[in-house]
Amino acid sequence: MKIQCFTVGAFQVNTYLLTDPATGQSAILDTGESDELVRRLKAIQPPPDIRMILLTHTHIDHAGALTLLQAEWDVPTYCPLLDEPLYDTLPMQGTMFGMPQLNRPKGRIDHWVKDGETVQLGQTTLHFLSTPGHTPGQGCWHDDDDILVGDTLFSGSIGRTDFPLSTPALQVESLRRLTQLPGHLRVHSGHGPVTTIGHELKTNPFLGYIRRERGIDGPRGMSWAPGT
Ligand SMILES: [Zn+2]
Repeated sequence: MKIQCFTVGAFQVNTYLLTDPATGQSAILDTGESDELVRRLKAIQPPPDIRMILLTHTHIDHAGALTLLQAEWDVPTYCPLLDEPLYDTLPMQGTMFGMPQLNRPKGRIDHWVKDGETVQLGQTTLHFLSTPGHTPGQGCWHDDDDILVGDTLFSGSIGRTDFPLSTPALQVESLRRLTQLPGHLRVHSGHGPVTTIGHELKTNPFLGYIRRERGIDGPRGMSWAPGT
C-alpha cells in the first residue's frame, strides 16, 4: 500500500492518502479540522481515485472536516462503532476543549466498524483493530506492512488518556494488543514521525510494563496508569 501523509490544520494532525498499488484506488484516513486536506488533495495531479474515507477516532482534529471531504468526495465512510458517543459530541467538542470556534457539524457515517472487521481497498485488505483508551472507540487500520494508529501510539509516546471519555485502563490493555502485532509493521501515527511496532516495544518509555511482562530488554520506563 502506498501511503502519503498530509500534516494539516491547527493541531498539525497527520492525515493520510492510502493507495492500493494494483488498482490505484485510494482511501482518505482522518480529516483534520479545516479545509486544508481538501485543498491539498484537490491539488494532486492526476486526481486520486478516492473510494472511501476511514476514521481512526472522532476528535475534532481527526474527524472535524468530514463534512468538507464528503462534499467533495461522496464516498462510503467507516468509523469505529465504539466511538459513536464521542462522535455525537463533534458539534460541541470545540467548546469542550475551550475553543468554541472549532465546533464542527457531524458528517455521514455509512459503516460503524468493530474489532476484526476488514475493508477492501482494491486488492488491499485493511484490517480494523479496536484499541480503545484515548477515546471510547479509537482504532487502527493495517495491512501486512503498515498500520495507521491514530492517537493510540506515537514515536516515543502514547495517546493522552486524560480527556473526557478517555479510559486509561483500556489504553493499558490496547497497547498490549497492539504490540502483539509483528515488530516490522511501520506505525503511522496521528501526530509525529513514522516508527515501527518493534522499535516502540524496545524503547518507548510508556511501554515499560509490557517489556517487563514479556522479558524484553529496554528502559524501565514510567508508570502512567494502574498496571503499568
Ligand atoms: Zn485524539
